[in-house]
Amino acid sequence: MLDRFNRKINYLRISVTDRCNLRCLYCVTGNEIKLLSKNEILSFEELCEIVTVASNLGIDKVRLTGGEPLVKHDIIKLVDMISNTGKVKDFSLTTNGILLEEYAKPLAEAGLHRINVSLDTVDPQKFRYLTRVGDINKVFAGIEAAKKYGLDPIKINCVVKESSDEPDALSVEKYCLQNNLKPRFIKQMNLEEGNFSIVEGGQGGNCKQCNRIRLTCNGKVKPCLFSDLEFDIRQLGIKEAFEKAVKAKPEHGSQNHVNVFNNIGG
Ligand code: SF4
Repeated sequence: MLDRFNRKINYLRISVTDRCNLRCLYCVTGNEIKLLSKNEILSFEELCEIVTVASNLGIDKVRLTGGEPLVKHDIIKLVDMISNTGKVKDFSLTTNGILLEEYAKPLAEAGLHRINVSLDTVDPQKFRYLTRVGDINKVFAGIEAAKKYGLDPIKINCVVKESSDEPDALSVEKYCLQNNLKPRFIKQMNLEEGNFSIVEGGQGGNCKQCNRIRLTCNGKVKPCLFSDLEFDIRQLGIKEAFEKAVKAKPEHGSQNHVNVFNNIGG
């Protein structure tokens, strides 16, 4: 699909849940996450039909996000079902890594190609502070398991306040070099204020070359992360929602007042 600015839109980021097992300070800014009811969340059958229809429209790259996708009940079955559509050339998932040691093998066997793991520091105390509840050793063990079972490449998403020169970012970069991992530095974003920048080491945030659209876990197609625009699949139907979203895709991001990170997956 080409949008009005001649950008080829072939990348779909799917939030499969708004649930998460961490409470990162820059994501869960309030005391608690306001969660959707289970019946609002897209079913596996709906997700596979969406991937099939979207691929017929030109989508060939799919990433599963959340919340935290590995807390999704039966996530391996979903990965297997999407993989078996035979429509996805590049199939990836973004995780906080806490459950990755347990899931790396079945994810690879179910057809996942590659993985991004969120890691903003290599300091256990700092990690605990930033995530409120996390154990960094589980993430390190998860990354080792992902390597062992051939999820490749493994990219590390490191959120920074301002730049990759920050001490935590430099320590994450060193860890990546020592472990043959690809670091990407993502400046902290603010949906409502419209603060975002190009991902260092990645493609995100580069509006001129943007190839992506998003699907929220309750079935809204979003042409842009930093926009209020969304098209409801359950009201419009899959094909029409995607076509309307790509047609309305803005030239560049502005602000997003309707979503929160845990139901759109960044
Ligand atoms: S802000 Fe919108 S247009 Fe820009 S890169 Fe992000 S999703 Fe694409």
